[in-house]
Amino acid sequence: MSASDPAALTYRRMWADLGMNLELHDQMLEAIERVHRTTHLARRNRPLAMSEFDAALHGAHGSRVAEIIEHRRRGGKSIGTFCIYVPDEIALAAGVIPMPLCGGTGWSVDYADKMFPRDICPLVRSTFGLAFSGTCPYKTLKEFALGETTCDAKKKAWDLLGFPSLEVPQKKTDIDRELWRSEVRRFAREMEKLAGRPIEKEALARSVRKVNDRRRVLQRINGYRMLAEPPISGLDALLVSQTALSMDIDAFLAAAGRLEKELESRAVKGVSAYEKPGPRILYAGSPSPLGYSKLHYVAETSGLRIVADESCTGSRYYRDLVDEGSGDLDSMYDAIADRYFAIDCACFSPNSERFDNVRRMAGEFGVSGILHGVLQYCHGYDIESRALDKAIADLSIPSLKIVTDYSEQDIEQIRVRIETFRELVEHGEKRQTAGSGV
Ligand code: SF4
Ligand code: SF4
Repeated sequence: MSASDPAALTYRRMWADLGMNLELHDQMLEAIERVHRTTHLARRNRPLAMSEFDAALHGAHGSRVAEIIEHRRRGGKSIGTFCIYVPDEIALAAGVIPMPLCGGTGWSVDYADKMFPRDICPLVRSTFGLAFSGTCPYKTLKEFALGETTCDAKKKAWDLLGFPSLEVPQKKTDIDRELWRSEVRRFAREMEKLAGRPIEKEALARSVRKVNDRRRVLQRINGYRMLAEPPISGLDALLVSQTALSMDIDAFLAAAGRLEKELESRAVKGVSAYEKPGPRILYAGSPSPLGYSKLHYVAETSGLRIVADESCTGSRYYRDLVDEGSGDLDSMYDAIADRYFAIDCACFSPNSERFDNVRRMAGEFGVSGILHGVLQYCHGYDIESRALDKAIADLSIPSLKIVTDYSEQDIEQIRVRIETFRELVEHGEKRQTAGSGV
């Protein structure tokens, strides 16, 4: 949404009522609009149904905010979250809307200087830069923001700002599982307290199915990227995953269903999202919150095809489902906890499950290269990229690690590195083809 379009004008009153800084907010909307226009909207061969996800990107500060205001006006509650470890199913069963707050815009990063050092990851800086600059509409629209003990940057931010947090263990022993199960139950009690009523078994079963449906439709949409000619680009698949977390869940399921139908028809007709051939690449690493798609954009406009995403805005979010067969409330909480405990974030040590998952994905999606996307100062994914390369060395897939932030200054440097990488991957593909006698 640009600052001057009619919808934005309608929402100005709402933003003013929320106490936002309208002048800075206009600047931020313009920055997001410009990036979206030059990345997604400039592409040809996009599925028509992507327009709903384009609208959801802009709606994150407009229609979605209006929905949450209405939900709260009717007595509903909302909380802010920062990580895919927070079990949405439980919040939704209590009638609480979980709102993902991770910032993906470079515009707000410098506003974080008010409280945070410059050498922490841009995701944290962008998030709090939005809050400090008065451009986050969700700042006053929540009962509280819930952190989690994953990386150091986040943990220390919660301490500084006085946010409560869930304790995510850093290992995967039986003791850690028990700790996590008790944290999930503590979260459920918190949600009940907030809602002023107990979570009913039927409501939890419904929300488990619904959140699983969101993961299932993402699995199917991403499944189309396994085709030799993917009907959806990596850039667009990323936008779908990003908006899956920010949209109203029913609205997302409806839009994703329409996209899935279109992808099916494009697949039957052999319609590709790509105009030219190019090596198939797996993106692995730090998350790409809504508003950030720099590496996908540069890679796909430099001849690579990102056909799989191993990140929290990719398979890490949708890969595992909660077991829907659990009987009583207690075993449902265990099933939910166990599903989240299987997440293979780089905050775990060791994190060998992640290596197995990347190995499996590399085969399923038929990739010839891996792009490690690391947000600057995200030490977990940065250091782990080397261990990951070692663990899958036998696959002989070349990789490239790019450490970057949300700024646009290094785009051309990244492009040069990616083009060299593309040549390397293409060379490897030719050698393999020659070796196999094809
Ligand atoms: S990378 Fe780790 S800390 Fe960040 S959102 Fe994913 S699971 Fe949470
Ligand atoms: S991107 Fe990395 S450093 Fe930043 S908040 Fe997520 S896990 Fe922490």
